[in-house]
Amino acid sequence: MGGFEALRTLEPIVLGGRARLDDPGFFAHMDPPASIESVAASLWQVGTNQNLLHPDLAPSARLLQKIVINWLAEFFGCDGGHFVSGSSVANLTAIWAAREVKNVKKVVASKKAHNSVKKAADILGLEFVKIEELSSGLDLSDACLVLTAGTTGSGEIEKLGERRGSAWVHCDAAWGGGMRFSKKHGWKLDGVENCDSVVFSCHKWFFQPKGCGVVLFKDSKTAETKISYGAGYLATPTIGVAGTQPANVIPLCATLLAWGQEGVAERIDRGIENATYLARLVAGEGGKFELWGGKGGKGEEGVVLWRRRGVGMEEGGGGRNAAERLKRLMEEEGAFVSVSGGGGDGWWFRSVAANDFVDIDYLWRAVLRSSV
Ligand SMILES: *Cc1c(COP(=O)(O)O)cnc(C)c1O
Repeated sequence: MGGFEALRTLEPIVLGGRARLDDPGFFAHMDPPASIESVAASLWQVGTNQNLLHPDLAPSARLLQKIVINWLAEFFGCDGGHFVSGSSVANLTAIWAAREVKNVKKVVASKKAHNSVKKAADILGLEFVKIEELSSGLDLSDACLVLTAGTTGSGEIEKLGERRGSAWVHCDAAWGGGMRFSKKHGWKLDGVENCDSVVFSCHKWFFQPKGCGVVLFKDSKTAETKISYGAGYLATPTIGVAGTQPANVIPLCATLLAWGQEGVAERIDRGIENATYLARLVAGEGGKFELWGGKGGKGEEGVVLWRRRGVGMEEGGGGRNAAERLKRLMEEEGAFVSVSGGGGDGWWFRSVAANDFVDIDYLWRAVLRSSV
């Protein structure tokens, strides 16, 4: 077929069938459109195919990794860490370090924790203890306590900062980590600096191409030494789970240089403004819609949970079906949300502030057209 024909054949499939993350009506998932600087710099990464595994394979990118990681780490009270493919692997890495450094026997997390936390416990052969609320009086002296800064479901930030006697405290800031770079909203993660490890996904609220997560440690030397493996063919040991690791630091560094901390913060602040504005619109339609009554979900952490009153609460599988049906109607009008729930009070629409190009008025008009 040849290269030209291959691309021509694929074009309508790949581009025609894509999720339009940058559409003005897209406010649906934690996936952002990648920053234009990161798209351009990604061509350098794939074109030169650098590998963070070994100094010979990415001499300058390894140096960049050090600089960028150190810059990120400071915001979370950490002193180093490394890039991974995302927060699932980052959670596994951090909990692995907790097991090696502190000999923890169990992982304790609230029921709102991401499923990758239980996955990590299972892989590592640790007991997983799911608790209702973090106030329960468990003995945590042999535990890795996992606190979430921005739950996947509603964006709730769990109370950070208290160790509660645990051997290791880990903060999963996969979604919420970006807020730490905002002068206006960074305080919401206060206490994170008391955690032993922190993860966040730069491909979520940091506008990066996929496959870019970081795991950070308060004492990275101790933690990373315990999870490093040497080999005869390697000049330096491999740190953590991955072997080959793409130099996603190149697109990330390009974005950070172009925007600066202020530029990142501006986009995070705008995301929260968009989300809280949407929450006000939801609440302001004379009772036709309802906002989630639990923690988070009102836009302050970039996530809005809402529904057309009554739709999603039908018995059995009916709730989900009804929510999915209305979601499709909204999509036809140009409004994209995700469906979330099953938590006991039915199904909700979830809107997430990852798309800086969203136009909330445009989106809301589409919602109203589909909900007459
Ligand atoms: C998305 C998410 C994860 C998993 O991150 P990936 O980058 O998708 O692997 C972990 N924890 C939370 C709270 C998340 O929202």
